[in-house]
Amino acid sequence: MEKIKCLIIGSGPAGFTAAIYASRAGLAPVLYEGLEPGGQLVSTTEVENFPGYPEGVLGNELMNDLKQQAARFGTDIRYGVATAADLSARPFRITIDGQQEIESDTVIIATGATARYLGLPSEQRFRGMGVSACATCDGFFYKGKDVAVVGGGDTACEEAVYLASLCRKVYLIVRKNYLRASKAMQEKAMRTENIEILFEFNTEEVLGDDTGVTGVRLRGNDGSQLTLDIAGFFVAIGHKPNTEIFEGQVELDANGYIRTVPGSSRTNIEGVFAAGDVQDPTYRQAITAAGSGCMAAIDCERYLLSL
Ligand code: NDP
Repeated sequence: MEKIKCLIIGSGPAGFTAAIYASRAGLAPVLYEGLEPGGQLVSTTEVENFPGYPEGVLGNELMNDLKQQAARFGTDIRYGVATAADLSARPFRITIDGQQEIESDTVIIATGATARYLGLPSEQRFRGMGVSACATCDGFFYKGKDVAVVGGGDTACEEAVYLASLCRKVYLIVRKNYLRASKAMQEKAMRTENIEILFEFNTEEVLGDDTGVTGVRLRGNDGSQLTLDIAGFFVAIGHKPNTEIFEGQVELDANGYIRTVPGSSRTNIEGVFAAGDVQDPTYRQAITAAGSGCMAAIDCERYLLSL
């Protein structure tokens, strides 16, 4: 069986940054790209807030740059999905694509999180053309326009408040008759003049044409129908961290995110590190993911030196 020093699972900004650092530190890392090579950024369009790109960069190009940089220092980048993990004994043993196993002294988990979507065909059709799951990433494109946010948690309220500072009007579509967000966030959303909260409404269809989203059709819990003219539709109904194969081994929080020792990338298992959105329900930005990928590689290098 193949035996290596450092296995990186995931190919978003966290995984590739960990790979750049681990390669340069001589750890000869192997990186498996996972189900969505490049991670969440490949499904966005323009990225304007990643430092170092004064004119902005396409999500795809940014990820390609990070991949080339990791390859340049010798990272062994492979197609393949980690489908099982045995972290109970050393070296750790990871199964790839349900068949082949690989042993490693250390594992950096950078499997990310997946934004939840409503599951409507029209929502899928306009993804990247007005439908977004990240206001910080895409809000800027709707400056001065009307948009809607769906969800009633902290993320939805936070995104609505953020968008309200850029957009003319923000509709917050909430399926229940109350918000689940923290009191402070609720009050912030309610106090913001250009946010209109539509309680007890569900989205039936995102409307649009070749130019992108033009509106949304809602159905009230009382059966009423409402159509809003909007240019952007932001889905903020939560994220799902990709941690299934580590359940019962790596310590997770109540929402399934990996718990790391504060100020580090260390998990409850020595030699297993986590970076990026899989351990970050709060910031979820490409740059914070990249930063934590760097931390994971440094923590990993120090761990290997201590053996
Ligand atoms: P949450 O799971 O807290 O909230 C999801 C929201 O989406 C709920 O209001 C839920 O409605 C709604 N929802 C779910 N599915 C659907 C659907 N199919 N149609 C319509 N609405 C739907 O997710 P968040 O991302 O908001 O927050 C995740 C965690 O991160 C929380 O613990 C939160 O507190 C934390 N967080 C903290 C922040 C901060 O402190 N600044 C900022 C952002 C997040 P319902 O209530 O009916 O179930």
